[in-house]
Amino acid sequence: MTITIVPICHDCNEELSNWDRFLNRKYPNTLGYTLCSSCEKKREEKIIKEISQSVADDLDFYDFEKGGKSNENN
Ligand SMILES: [Zn+2]
Repeated sequence: MTITIVPICHDCNEELSNWDRFLNRKYPNTLGYTLCSSCEKKREEKIIKEISQSVADDLDFYDFEKGGKSNENN
């Protein structure tokens, strides 16, 4: 008896593509549900934004420029 479970993205309820299924099998996440790669990307971007925002807030103390100017030449 074989039951084929088609994983569905937790965020958008779309069936995962073969590639996403492959990745989920090979690298199962610890969330307890599956995400398609585009939703996963969205989440990552959101988390990165939140982290950079909180870092920027922390650095306010040091007069960190929020414009994102980087001084690569020192
Ligand atoms: Zn999705």
